[in-house]
Amino acid sequence: MSIKVKELAKHYGRQKAVDSISFEAREGKILGFLGPNGAGKSTTMRMITGYLAPTSGNAEINGRPINPKATEVKRDIGYLPENTPLYADMYVREFLSFVGETYKLKNLKSRVAEVIKQVGLEPEQHKKIGMLSKGYKQRVGIAQAIIHNPKVLILDEPTSGLDPNQLADIRLLIKELGKEKTIIISTHIMQEVDAICDDIIIINKGKIVADESLLSLKKKYAPQSLEEIFKKLTNT
Ligand code: ADP
Repeated sequence: MSIKVKELAKHYGRQKAVDSISFEAREGKILGFLGPNGAGKSTTMRMITGYLAPTSGNAEINGRPINPKATEVKRDIGYLPENTPLYADMYVREFLSFVGETYKLKNLKSRVAEVIKQVGLEPEQHKKIGMLSKGYKQRVGIAQAIIHNPKVLILDEPTSGLDPNQLADIRLLIKELGKEKTIIISTHIMQEVDAICDDIIIINKGKIVADESLLSLKKKYAPQSLEEIFKKLTNT
């Protein structure tokens, strides 16, 4: 399923946090959504997932508009927000069953077991979420985002604050998920972009300053590194 964003805008008072942006996330591809802090990434992602109503414009999944009331369309979307909100006092299985119930999933028990396996949570599955390391908490966050097997996955800085080993594991997991889902991922780590993304959007002060495939972006600015390209396009 592809995601089309059309002239999407969010204004906070006089501030244009997202200033009429349009782009497309191609089906089955991983789109890196980059930009400095405050550029409008989280706001855009919240609108795409239907959690935040836009000031104007819209986002569509396979031609169906998304809005906070579009419950059917929202079933096709999995969302990992920034600073993963999790219930520290709940057990891993209990939490995932709870999320699965909100989607009224059939065969909930086996689906929870399947997802736990898929995200590599098996060794920690009997613990309380509050007891887990940041890397495993992030896996729980990804597990809750994919429990209903959405075709589209929106991941807001899924690897921030992870150690190098955890980072490599989560990256691998995202790449794996990207084989069958359309993914939009925001990150500040250019190595990560290089390793997993097919396409790149760079947003600065609410406006898009780059929108192309990773390969063509690198080619266009060769021999500059992604860091250099990012700085050049956002240091204004
Ligand atoms: P990013 O995710 O790229 O760091 P955000 O989307 O979080 O950026 O924020 C974009 C801009 O919108 C920032 O200037 C931020 O302060 C502002 N902003 C975000 N949410 C709100 C809000 N609820 N009220 C007012 N301003 C906000």
